Amino acid sequence: MKKDIYAKMQILSDSAKYDVSCSSSGSDSNYKTGELGATHNSGICHTFSADGRCISLLKVLLTNYCIYDCAYCVNRSSNDIPRAAFSPRELANITINFYKRNYIEGLFLSSGIIESENHTMELILRVLKILRFEHKFNGYIHVKLIPGSDEALIAEVVRLASRVSSNIELPSDNSLKLLAPNKTKEKVLQPLKIARDLSLERDNKAIGMSTQLIVGATPESDFDILKLSSVLYDKALLKRVYYSAYIPVNDDKNLPAILTKPPLVREHRLYQADWLLRFYGFSYDEILTSQAPNLDEELDPKTMWALSNLHLFPIEINRASKEELIRIPGIGVRGAHKILKARRFKKLGFDDLKALKISIKRAQYFITCEREFQREIALYPENIRAALIKPEPKKQPSLFDVSGITGEL
Ligand code: SF4
Repeated sequence: MKKDIYAKMQILSDSAKYDVSCSSSGSDSNYKTGELGATHNSGICHTFSADGRCISLLKVLLTNYCIYDCAYCVNRSSNDIPRAAFSPRELANITINFYKRNYIEGLFLSSGIIESENHTMELILRVLKILRFEHKFNGYIHVKLIPGSDEALIAEVVRLASRVSSNIELPSDNSLKLLAPNKTKEKVLQPLKIARDLSLERDNKAIGMSTQLIVGATPESDFDILKLSSVLYDKALLKRVYYSAYIPVNDDKNLPAILTKPPLVREHRLYQADWLLRFYGFSYDEILTSQAPNLDEELDPKTMWALSNLHLFPIEINRASKEELIRIPGIGVRGAHKILKARRFKKLGFDDLKALKISIKRAQYFITCEREFQREIALYPENIRAALIKPEPKKQPSLFDVSGITGEL
């Protein structure tokens, strides 16, 4: 890579790292400049394709110049930071070079707004056209759509990309007005609506659409965030919401102080609650309410829900439906299938559940096997909660326990 291209790559892959719509950012490996495998500064990240394969991507911005001044963003116009911009051809050539060297299998492309929304979208479209038509690159390309650009441009990008996203970033109009005054909810949802309508036209062959919501920069509760995600899933505007714990990068009176730690546990709990929405048939207002609007940091959302609905438990493992089984803390969709299958041949006891690798540790307070409890404990939320969050006693290895060293004796 030529030196100025290398410098641009460092700036533009570093600027892209705060976008989590593509799962991870970069890899920390010991490398020396010029040696093979020096991917650390080149923004290689990983994501999952529609068929579940993990693929590595070049994650980069076309430019980190931006005419906007969103308060939470490292690339905002008022920040004095090193700036750079690739030409569409430069970026397409780098992508192909990396691909041919087997560094990457695809591209995750986003951009600051340069000149105007339409101009930026046109530059991104140019990258796509060079890759798809000149280089005949048929691999994975994820494009961040530019809200506010013309419908025809967005539609062309959607046709050429493998996956698209549009970052809503802040969960309410009020917060957008305060921190990103050039954006409105309508404006950020517009590209997703165009992408959805286009994918419906294509015989329902949906293109993967995602968004990023920043958590902890603004006062919205988990209830507000989960409600928004649920509405977006229901309207088929998204396949996936990515929650991003806010990392303070700018000093701003409307944002948490610069040394505030990112709320990582909250982010993790939101991902768990989102999973319940998408795969377990929960609605957002079963998980949270406006009176109890935040997830519990100590307990996962399904356990939290079960403790608030103890009148529905215990559930008899040998008679419960699949829908009932997957609502039991510690039993996932795969566990429920294993139970249903094993139940065809015999009545199951706790030892059978252990053999099926069901997490008895959490499930034991909520189930019976042939009306027997595993553990005698009064079914009060406080008792169960205390038992569940009690730290596990550390196992002292016995002087004569050599199984860890020798395996089976
Ligand atoms: S438009 Fe995007 S790149 Fe520009 S300041 Fe706002 S969040 Fe940052």
